[in-house]
Amino acid sequence: MAHPAYQVAIIGGGVSGAALAYVLTRYTGVSSLVLVEKSHHPAAINSAASQNSQTLHYGDIETNYSLKKAAEVKQAADMLVRCVTSEAAEAILHRMPKMVLGVGEVECAALRERHGRFQALYPDLHLLDRAGIAGVEPDVAGNRREELAALASPDSWCAVDFGRLTRFFLQRAQAQHGGLEVYLSCRVRDIARTAEGYVLHTSRGALYAQFVAVCAGAHSLGFAQNMGYGWQYSILPVAGSFFHARCRVRGKVYTVQSEHLPFAALHADPDIEHRQWMRLGPTALLVPFLERRRWASVPGFLRTMRLDAGTFGTFAGILGVAEIRRYMVRNLLYEIPLLRAALFAQAARKILPALRMADLRYARGVGGLRPQLIDRAARRLVLGEAAIDSDEGLLFNITPSPGATMCLANAIRDARKIAGFLGCVFDGEKVNETL
Ligand SMILES: Cc1cc2nc3c(=O)[nH]c(=O)nc-3n(C[C@H](O)[C@H](O)[C@H](O)COP(=O)(O)OP(=O)(O)OC[C@H]3O[C@@H](n4cnc5c(N)ncnc54)[C@H](O)[C@@H]3O)c2cc1C
Repeated sequence: MAHPAYQVAIIGGGVSGAALAYVLTRYTGVSSLVLVEKSHHPAAINSAASQNSQTLHYGDIETNYSLKKAAEVKQAADMLVRCVTSEAAEAILHRMPKMVLGVGEVECAALRERHGRFQALYPDLHLLDRAGIAGVEPDVAGNRREELAALASPDSWCAVDFGRLTRFFLQRAQAQHGGLEVYLSCRVRDIARTAEGYVLHTSRGALYAQFVAVCAGAHSLGFAQNMGYGWQYSILPVAGSFFHARCRVRGKVYTVQSEHLPFAALHADPDIEHRQWMRLGPTALLVPFLERRRWASVPGFLRTMRLDAGTFGTFAGILGVAEIRRYMVRNLLYEIPLLRAALFAQAARKILPALRMADLRYARGVGGLRPQLIDRAARRLVLGEAAIDSDEGLLFNITPSPGATMCLANAIRDARKIAGFLGCVFDGEKVNETL
């Protein structure tokens, strides 16, 4: 590899790094850019279609989002839809119905109350009773006695193949801009400061850049800490598994989310890669990895974990909540071969009352890892994605859910910063006109 000096180097070819390359090439004056990915193809980890829930989060059926968070996520999702549909890109976005299902008096009352508060932001969100639910999802309404209610949207772009979206961003960025180079099968070992900026030591030689944007998922925190930032954080890696069953839903059916849990509640939806199947999940299991099923990522996890009083204090706080303790134990049991289908079927019958254990198949190799951040200083879990900005030509993105939905919005935020740092144009008007 030659050693040219780039204005910007992006580490990571998942949907976040690809979206940043897209925005930099389209909307800024940055003229030389390199993206470095350690795998031999983009979207190899959490952004692959099989590794996440394939949901364009919109804030309408995610009952743990506040109105403010919902408005933020909706704006990011709308932008993504405009971006993809305006380019007539196929098989990235999929339309289908979606709902959040309330079962029993308490959940139904909570959904009715939420509908009142959220209706202005989501005029297409309808409050459905049992008959309404049966009209959209007959197998969900089923033949059960409990009170049912749902907040539902009849037809929306709510399913995404984030792997295809990643490739779409990269192809468009390369077509737009001869100055973008993409190095695959190239691992960044470390970043070091130079007089003019930074040098990336990679498995294929050194790369020089004035600005480095680290979009390496769970690995981003290690890079940040090596450069002296983000010491107050540790990663809490939460793996998510799925079960497959013959598809009995027309769209996405989420359940009411506990306010204590930062992870998506159990849901069922058609698998957009294999439409005859539906996926049920994800589960939530704490694992000592930075990448799911990759033992080589354990040392990286241990380095960022930092088992000190702050970490233990945070854990004690989290585990002090009985609901979280029960949830963790149950999710651990979902991974035990002889038990998991029976236990999971019990939980999934909240969505599909006629589901039997024999209908379920544990989906091997499906489901990635959410790098939740722990703020050890504040002794709390950080909800959603996080960015560490150095103001010195370095930024780091750590992206649990809804990181993929937020990719374009985060890229615009980062591109504005990068252009400002380098003294390049950032065309905000074009962003507003086109996105
Ligand atoms: C079970 C589950 C369900 C989810 N569901 C949803 C959902 O429905 N909707 C949603 O919006 N989000 C969801 N998410 C979150 C979403 O998958 C992530 O936010 C998103 O994929 C993160 O993209 P990324 O590009 O930041 O990271 P990644 O996709 O992890 O990409 C990081 C890239 O960096 C590369 N890399 C790492 N280290 C190096 C290095 N040293 N050198 C070079 N390259 C490196 C990796 O190979 C990888 O390709 C879910 C996540 C999980 C685990």
